[in-house]
Formats: sequence, C-alpha cells, structure tokens
Amino acid sequence: MSQQEIVLEDENKEIKPPPYGLLVWATGNKSRPLARKLMEKLPDKQTQKRGLLVDDHLRLLGTDGIYAVGDATATKYAPTAQVAAQQGKYLASVFAALAPQEAANKAHSNSNADDNKKSSSQQPKLTNRSTTRTKDL
Ligand SMILES: Cc1cc2nc3c(=O)[nH]c(=O)nc-3n(C[C@H](O)[C@H](O)[C@H](O)COP(=O)(O)OP(=O)(O)OC[C@H]3O[C@@H](n4cnc5c(N)ncnc54)[C@H](O)[C@@H]3O)c2cc1C
Repeated sequence: MSQQEIVLEDENKEIKPPPYGLLVWATGNKSRPLARKLMEKLPDKQTQKRGLLVDDHLRLLGTDGIYAVGDATATKYAPTAQVAAQQGKYLASVFAALAPQEAANKAHSNSNADDNKKSSSQQPKLTNRSTTRTKDL
C-alpha cells in the first residue's frame, strides 16, 4: 500500500491495483518474527498467535525476566499507540523500582565472591603456616 495505490494479489497470484480514495484498514497485522520465534520456543505457554501472552505485570508467560509491551502482545487492550506508550511508562517505573534491589543483590554476590576468593587465597597461607609450624617442631 502506498499513498497512490493499493496492491492486491488475488487467489491466482495476479496483482490487481484497485482505484481508491479512502482506505479503511481492517485486515490486522501479523506478529513480528521475534515474537513468533518466542512463541515457537514456548509452545505450552504461548498459545495465542495474535501476540505474546503476558501477565498483569507484562511478564512474558513461561519465562523469567522477559517483558513484552504494545503490539507484540495479545492482551485485552487494543493494539494502539496509547496502550503501548502507557505500558512503556509502566515498565520504566517497574525497572526504576527494581534497579536498587538488583544493585544490592549484585553487590551482595560480589562480596560473597570476594569472601570466597579471600578464603581460597588464605588456604595456601594456612598450609604454609602449618608447614612452617611442622618445620618448627
Ligand atoms: C496504518 C496504521 C494506523 C494506525 N493508527 C493509529 C492511531 O491513529 N492511533 C493509535 O493509537 N494507534 C494507531 N496504530 C497502532 C500503533 O501504530 C501501534 O499500536 C503502536 O505503534 C504500537 O507500538 P509498539 O511500540 O508496540 O510497536 P511498534 O511501533 O511497531 O514498534 C516496534 C519496534 O520494534 C522494532 N523491532 C521489531 N523487531 C525487532 C528486532 N528483532 N530487533 C529490534 N527491533 C525490532 C520495529 O522496527 C519497531 O521500530 C496504527 C497502526 C497502523 C498499522
């Protein structure tokens, strides 16, 4: 479809551009390849060809830590720019709220890793000390 013409292919694969003045689009849109691939990978949970299924918090059903918004999803809301924009704002606020927690978790796991490193680097020293002690005896 362009501003000048609509190109239609009939059942015989023949291209017929009909004349038109006003276009009312009522055919819907197909899911994008990325969404279709996700559906294929999660056949038990992603059962709606119209779009990705998410819960009320926009979390992709069947996954952990994947979110989907807008036209990529199949929800009770109309696939409009207003809905996509509102969902985008909502997710931004969720991520902003999660960020400090994520940072704290990361810092905690880093400090655990440091502790593990320290204790493993202390291991040879202990052995050395015990060797020294053994020698001293
Ligand atoms: C002809 C038409 C008229 C419309 N008129 C209106 C209207 O008047 N009012 C209204 O509210 N809504 C209207 N809509 C609907 C509106 O355009 C959509 O609901 C809205 O754009 C959805 O936003 P989105 O961010 O979910 O998806 P999109 O706007 O489609 O954005 C998705 C983006 O992801 C990108 N993308 C896709 N795959 C990948 C990938 N693998 N990697 C990286 N990027 C990728 C795409 O290139 C695209 O930029 C209209 C739609 C059409 C088709």
